[in-house]
Amino acid sequence: MPAKSDCIFCEIGQHQADANVVYEDDACIAFKDIHPEAPTHVLVIPKVHIEKFSDFAEQTEIMDTLMRVVLKVVRKLGVEKNSKIAINNGKDAGQIIPHVHVHILSSQKSD
Ligand code: AMP
Ligand code: ZN
Repeated sequence: MPAKSDCIFCEIGQHQADANVVYEDDACIAFKDIHPEAPTHVLVIPKVHIEKFSDFAEQTEIMDTLMRVVLKVVRKLGVEKNSKIAINNGKDAGQIIPHVHVHILSSQKSD
């Protein structure tokens, strides 16, 4: 599904909702978490609407693209030696926003 109309992360990906963007390309966008849980807390999402990590099963190309962008953003933020990369897969695991996103957290502050 390209984009879902009532999805806040699809809206951010399409510049229809505000976000503090730290990286963007055609496929993905990375932005600061609105309620940071660490000095650095950035979310990376694919622009296409994929609900959760398990749904990548048939879409490994976008998964590969997303993880490459995560690595790029980790380097851009300068937290490659101190970062936690996390995905909450499904609401029972604490996934609140049903559009797959990768959390990048670090005790190190970045701009
Ligand atoms: P999760 O529990 O994995 O679904 O995490 C969702 C994350 O999205 C939380 O850390 C929220 O603080 C964050 N969040 C929700 N809405 C926004 C938004 N509009 N802009 C930035 N981050 C958001
Ligand atoms: Zn979405």
